Amino acid sequence: MVSTSTLCKNLLNVKDIVIKDVNSWTDKRGVQRLLIKARPHKRLQNRCPHCDQKCPGYDHHGAARKWRALDCGGIIVEIESTSQRICCPRHGVVVASVPWAFHGSGFTKEFEYSTAWLATQLNKSAVAAYMRVAWDTVGRIISRVHKDIEPDLRGRLDGLRVIGIDETSYRKGHKYITVVVNHENNTVVWAHEGKGKTVLTRFMELLSQEQRESIQVVSADGARWITECVEKYLPNCERCVDAFHVVEWAMDALDAVRRQSWREAQAVVKALPKPEKTGRPQKDDAHAVEAAAAKQKATSIKGAAYALGKAPENLTETQKAKLELIQLSDNQLYRAYKIKEALRLIFHMTDVDEADAALTKWVKWARHCRIPKFVELQRKIMRHRNHILNTIRQQVSNARIEANNNKIKLIIRRSFGFRNIHNMLDMILLVCSDINIPLPNRPAAYMA
Ligand SMILES: [Zn+2]
Repeated sequence: MVSTSTLCKNLLNVKDIVIKDVNSWTDKRGVQRLLIKARPHKRLQNRCPHCDQKCPGYDHHGAARKWRALDCGGIIVEIESTSQRICCPRHGVVVASVPWAFHGSGFTKEFEYSTAWLATQLNKSAVAAYMRVAWDTVGRIISRVHKDIEPDLRGRLDGLRVIGIDETSYRKGHKYITVVVNHENNTVVWAHEGKGKTVLTRFMELLSQEQRESIQVVSADGARWITECVEKYLPNCERCVDAFHVVEWAMDALDAVRRQSWREAQAVVKALPKPEKTGRPQKDDAHAVEAAAAKQKATSIKGAAYALGKAPENLTETQKAKLELIQLSDNQLYRAYKIKEALRLIFHMTDVDEADAALTKWVKWARHCRIPKFVELQRKIMRHRNHILNTIRQQVSNARIEANNNKIKLIIRRSFGFRNIHNMLDMILLVCSDINIPLPNRPAAYMA
């Protein structure tokens, strides 16, 4: 039979531990608990948590402290040990490290690794409920695990070639973070609180001369300050504009036209004379026919936002019917839709000369379309013409950038609730990377 001590060591997956006592009981709430009283192995006692040096003890009687370990069959497992304070010549008086936990944590390393792994895979309520910890605690766990796996982030800045810069809002648009992505492997290389030129400048200044020279392409939205920053720090690089941002501009213009059309169609419906008789109108009642057409037009415009935004090849039959109705009843709105589509298709071109010609044609069309919102859009497109052509020349994949962008937004939404912004940034860096968080007791071959 295996000894209790060996069993406990295997259960905790900690080698350098001396088991002193084990207790098991059911608490007042009916929860089963297992308390393992232990201490670090002599070799690992009185070690500084920062420099790992063996140091003289500061006081003789440490206080008893508990660390939560991974549950075993639903039983809550804890380690109890006296926490010894030591006096490090470099770091002063600190609590000595223990081999089973990170400094300052009330959980074992195995517990934290498992929690971090779950947090990158599941939603927050699932993680918090399964691990029996608060979501905010998960945030701190994420940061400790990330720091342990990747103590130095600078490696992410080496050999960058194609990068993307994006600002994302959270807390209902009140707060921002800036994220820099390596587009070649879809990993986040840098994330920082705030937005704007000062934040991006911080990133640029972090780069060495060699790192700056290796960057050849920067893709972002159309913001002028990004262009200025790129020109200042990365003079040899090509500035591109993310296609989905440009299409978004066109979508916004189209939506403004649609809302205007809907207001006008509504006004026509309201101005219609009330029918004199109640009940079903006669077939040849001209007023009734006119009223029905006006109402149909108004409803088709109202419900068309989604159909107008989609690519034609992805439309459902109902959406196609809606567009056909708009084509028949609202010439201006239909033209606006066609102009938006033409702009979107330019980004699908692979030949830059062909795209250049198409863009010239498009600009001419938009300039003379007599739809103020699109005349305005055309001016904006002209300002970004070179960046748009760079995007096509560099073949920066819009679908991938957009997918990655949405992934980051999803993580931010999931990390919402971490009280500390750094926990959120660590979560982004951990998930948007090629880091594999190791799970306890899995041989390397098992992890794949
Ligand atoms: Zn130290």
